[in-house]
Amino acid sequence: MKELEEITCPLCHMSFIENEKLSNVFSDDPKTKYISNLVKHYREYHITSWNKIFKKYGHEYRGTWFKGIEFEKSKYNNRSKRQIIRKVHPVLKEMGIEPIHFERLKDTDQKTMELVHRFLGES
Ligand SMILES: [Zn+2]
Repeated sequence: MKELEEITCPLCHMSFIENEKLSNVFSDDPKTKYISNLVKHYREYHITSWNKIFKKYGHEYRGTWFKGIEFEKSKYNNRSKRQIIRKVHPVLKEMGIEPIHFERLKDTDQKTMELVHRFLGES
């Protein structure tokens, strides 16, 4: 069993232990693993509406969902990815993160990939 690593968010500088599942999925690919953990952190800590979904009146938020939680989660993940890119692309670039690493993430949509190429592609 590999030991889980600590990750620091470049936006809020909070340190957290990487997610075990993501650590396993991307065990041979530290850059994609980093991005996937950052997206999860961003969704949970920087997009406050995501957490409201799971609280007391969450059913009111979920009431308008017709396509289920996985669909909504992927929408939130893509929104998180785009905001991360806009806000910290110089940090990502310095770490050697490229469009290929975003392509390897689950459900990265067209709109997000266009932004990834604009900020992290060859210039
Ligand atoms: Zn953060």
